[in-house]
Amino acid sequence: MPPAVTVLFVSDLHLDPADALGVRRFTNFVEREALGATQVYVLGDLFEAWVGDDDDEPLLAPIVAGFQALRDAAVTCYLMHGNRDFLIGADFCAATGCRLLGDFATIDVFGRRVLLTHGDLLCTDDVRYQTLRAQLRGGPWQREFLAKPLAERRAIAADLRKMSAVEIASKREEIMDVNQATVEDTMRAHGVSSLLHGHTHRPGVHRFVLDGEAATRIVLGAWYEHASVVRWDETGFRLETLSDR
Ligand code: MN
Repeated sequence: MPPAVTVLFVSDLHLDPADALGVRRFTNFVEREALGATQVYVLGDLFEAWVGDDDDEPLLAPIVAGFQALRDAAVTCYLMHGNRDFLIGADFCAATGCRLLGDFATIDVFGRRVLLTHGDLLCTDDVRYQTLRAQLRGGPWQREFLAKPLAERRAIAADLRKMSAVEIASKREEIMDVNQATVEDTMRAHGVSSLLHGHTHRPGVHRFVLDGEAATRIVLGAWYEHASVVRWDETGFRLETLSDR
């Protein structure tokens, strides 16, 4: 019998190299789960913050080594940008073997077309966030930011995180969730009845009817307490929370 084929999906690991427990959760995931998979998709916010591929933080080493172990084991890793780590670039991908995807990717999973996205673009009720996003994702801001010395970039990233915490505290919960009409328009535009994303930190499986057809939206959870994973094999998908053990 050929080995079982498993595709794993994760999102919102929010890895902070200085947080040893979080890094350990990731390396455990690599050793215990990902090395046994055929493909791993990281749907954004792998890192709590990313100030550029030239970051010389030594504590990043175990994370990079984890991806290298997957590459060496022929496990293909795909990466999407999240709102925290959208500056991950070609150098990080070259060092780790990760393949960078765009904001939306439609893949075939055991014969089912599944649309992948980080999830922030679905949160269209949060107009202030979308405005900030457009600014930060523009070429001029990024070129200017990446031209600054590392120490200054780290300080700006810390300020942005503080600003974000203040913003989030002042917003109503529902504003920070996906907008259902945007979800449906996006799924229609990509011709899918399955959508998989993260970002909202509200893990769950939502089933609804889209243009008369059964549709599914799967939401990955954040890794602040435990690893959240979607495990997909020939029998279907499962949204799981992994214990640290
Ligand atoms: Mn996010």
